[in-house]
Amino acid sequence: MSAGDCIFCRIVAGEIPARKVFEDAVCMAFLDVAPLAPGHCLVVPKGHFGSFDQMPADIAGAMLSRLPMLGKAVQSATGSTGFNVLLNNGKVAGQEVMHVHVHVIPRKEGDGLGYRWHPQSLDDATADSLRSRIADGLDG
Ligand SMILES: [Zn+2]
Repeated sequence: MSAGDCIFCRIVAGEIPARKVFEDAVCMAFLDVAPLAPGHCLVVPKGHFGSFDQMPADIAGAMLSRLPMLGKAVQSATGSTGFNVLLNNGKVAGQEVMHVHVHVIPRKEGDGLGYRWHPQSLDDATADSLRSRIADGLDG
């Protein structure tokens, strides 16, 4: 997909309206049009990156550094007492728009959204092998 066809690039460019709550040199935050809870925001990099693992570390860091501030404002505005930060990376993980975006989802007691996944067990040999392969795959 070219950036010209990307809904989030078009929002960043002002070609599609959005309820923007924040913008700086690297990112923009706006209300999700299909919120899981009132105040659910998306944070997107202004540049087009299809997946989080393709983002330069400095841009990812600058974008993610805004999450505490945004989460605090979302909590304050919605009267929520917590929030989830969620980044679905790749179709298999639930990413629906192929432009990196971070969800900030306000939470309240009894909101019914849930969050629990089901932990698995891992034998020592598999865990040791995975640790090595992941550690060896880090390139600075
Ligand atoms: Zn895009």
